Amino acid sequence: MLISLIVPCYNEEEALPFFYEAVTKVADEMKEYEFEYLFINDGSKDKTLELLRSFAEKDKRATYISFSRNFGKEAAMYAGFCNAKGDYVAVMDADMQDPPSLLPEMVEYLKSGEYDSVATRRFTRKGEPKLRSFFARMFYKIINKISDADIVDGARDFRLMTRPMVDAIVSMSESSRFSKGIFGWIGFRTKWLPYENIERVAGKTKWSFSKLFKYAIDGFIDFSDAPLTFVSGLGVFMTVISFIALLFVFIRALVVPDTSVGGWASTICVILFLGGIQLLCLGIIGKYLSKTYREVKHRPHYLVGETNRRDAK
Ligand code: UDP
Ligand code: MG
Repeated sequence: MLISLIVPCYNEEEALPFFYEAVTKVADEMKEYEFEYLFINDGSKDKTLELLRSFAEKDKRATYISFSRNFGKEAAMYAGFCNAKGDYVAVMDADMQDPPSLLPEMVEYLKSGEYDSVATRRFTRKGEPKLRSFFARMFYKIINKISDADIVDGARDFRLMTRPMVDAIVSMSESSRFSKGIFGWIGFRTKWLPYENIERVAGKTKWSFSKLFKYAIDGFIDFSDAPLTFVSGLGVFMTVISFIALLFVFIRALVVPDTSVGGWASTICVILFLGGIQLLCLGIIGKYLSKTYREVKHRPHYLVGETNRRDAK
């Protein structure tokens, strides 16, 4: 049995040595399994690639694929899934927030045959800014209402999967990738392991609030067309309202003929209001259109600059 560990790395020179040490310790202990570490260097600007080369030199389990530039964690994970050969495949962060020591327990669950994947979720949002927690909760509430993917609050990307599940993920080849949605959408039987959030061992998180916000919007658009339904609903609603207003104005003009010109303020209000709504709706449609445009171009998800794997895809 081979276990592949996919590790996306972006500027992780400080955390990688800790990670490598921890993961080799676990791999050495699990003697009945073979391991391959598949580090994906996502265009790091520090010494990450040098470190990966040195791991590969002294350890044949350590392999790496280095991108030609930063393509994002989603692309890095996809590259990992496309290249991993293992019977079991796991995605882990390089910052030790996904403790390798959980691996033996996760493998046991898969071995029992009852589950296709073992995933981790943190059960508290302790140590996170209040505002961020609030928005995160709102996000999960809304997206679970409006999409058919089952997206779990607090789920991390750290999970161990069986081969069929990995193949299913690889078959979802969309270029705008929202992994939490993809994992939820493909289904399969998942065992959830709750655990307390762990701070990163070294270095800094790459997620700013605005990045997270953008990611959330992408999630909505990738996994739901509810915003489009909302836009059409709004259109119907406004049409009905304007028809009633039209009748009112028409009948009033017949019943109380009034020659004085008035109603400037109300006219401006109506114009501004409708103008605003139209721009909003156009914006929503534009978002879907731009996503469609990007998908139809079929650009590669990532470009490999350097690797020590002979058959890297
Ligand atoms: N990462 C990546 N490409 C990016 C950003 C992040 O490969 O553009 C990697 C990063 O090196 C780490 C993992 O994705 O191994 C998670 O990143 P981070 O720890 O910053 O996110 P958080 O754990 O705070 O959600
Ligand atoms: Mg992290």
